[in-house]
Amino acid sequence: MGGIFCPDFDSRLLITKTDITMYGDFQQHLKDELAAIDAAGLYKRERNIASQQFAEITLEDGSKALNFCANNYLGLSNNPRLMKAAQEAMEARGFGMSSVRFICGTQDYHKTLEKAIADYFKTEDTILYAACFDANGGLFEPLFTAEDAIISDSLNHASIIDGVRLCKAQRYRYANADMADLERCLQEAQAQRYRIIVTDGVFSMDGNVAPMDKICDLAEKYNALVMVDESHSAGVVGATGHGVAEQFNCYGRVDIFTGTLGKAFGGAVGGFTTGRKEIIDMLRQRSRPYLFSNSLPPSVVGASIEVFKMLAESDELHTKLQNNVNYFRDKMLAAGFDIKPTQSAICAVMLYDAPLSQVFAQKMAQEGIFVTGFYYPVVPKGEARIRVQLSAAHEQEHLDKAIAAFIKVGKELGVIK
Ligand SMILES: *Cc1c(COP(=O)(O)O)cnc(C)c1O
Repeated sequence: MGGIFCPDFDSRLLITKTDITMYGDFQQHLKDELAAIDAAGLYKRERNIASQQFAEITLEDGSKALNFCANNYLGLSNNPRLMKAAQEAMEARGFGMSSVRFICGTQDYHKTLEKAIADYFKTEDTILYAACFDANGGLFEPLFTAEDAIISDSLNHASIIDGVRLCKAQRYRYANADMADLERCLQEAQAQRYRIIVTDGVFSMDGNVAPMDKICDLAEKYNALVMVDESHSAGVVGATGHGVAEQFNCYGRVDIFTGTLGKAFGGAVGGFTTGRKEIIDMLRQRSRPYLFSNSLPPSVVGASIEVFKMLAESDELHTKLQNNVNYFRDKMLAAGFDIKPTQSAICAVMLYDAPLSQVFAQKMAQEGIFVTGFYYPVVPKGEARIRVQLSAAHEQEHLDKAIAAFIKVGKELGVIK
């Protein structure tokens, strides 16, 4: 008999001199790697926010800033109706589930939310996950084998890439939104049994939207399934914000949608896969992040049900977001900035030069505007940029302040005249 139930067992004894020596070498290795990350200017430092997530945030030191780098597209992160729904759900159904879904972690609330998401996307069924990272991570391995093919856009999100890695299917990669290259992959993949085309709905660096109508056409021509990750597109694109299926009228042609509750849909936490019934059924049987990870807590589930109620009542938030995007883009173009033709709530202000993108973002922060500067390897070499994320939480005065700061810093740094 051994282990922690043995009365004379002391886990502290496990730390022996050898372990400490071994950590010494490993510690030095980590210190060197961390120093290299820092020297390359890639060390990520976190900002400590001491307020709710909103258009204007308060930092730990009491200073204020306008937030243009959250995924808070519909401004729901601190919506009073959702906060109240979360509290009520917690009162009614408790704090935690202490179980995975299939053992004893499913409440009526979970089923209601799954139904609400299926209604929103006009699909047959939905399966919830702890995050969209898990939805993508657990999607492919249960459905496809080495006989099949996954055909993936080169700019797909890290969680899709990881999910594909966990699956034995043959992998094909096509250049971002390049339909000729996708067609080439589809032709090559005729050698496999089943094929699936996998794409983000909106790509997070350029803000461009995947051409879903053309993707579905090619899928039909070459007998492939279609999966789209709606994380940056749902709530944002389409006439009433219902995502790419609405925008391209391809309801019934997309087999699988994945998405997050952590962006437009309230910004808390949670992910989902929604689509054809048998696919969702199989995921409930075999998807590892679903089977081996805890259920979403009642507060998040209850508030998320409220999100879909709100969005069914009115598309006012989506309309406001759209107006904000148009306003910001038009004023920035008029000021002489080079902006990628945005098709979403993401606006890429092109600077091309990596150090310039960092200085620009720092100066914007000094002006009280939070935006993110991206450069290689996050974006291609020579395509450094500032990414601006717009939100229905922004009022026109916020947009005007941000635009004024862009113009001031842009002139200072010689980006515009
Ligand atoms: C943010 C994002 C995810 C991850 O969502 P989480 O719910 O935060 O794990 C997955 N895919 C895409 C395309 C995303 O943008």
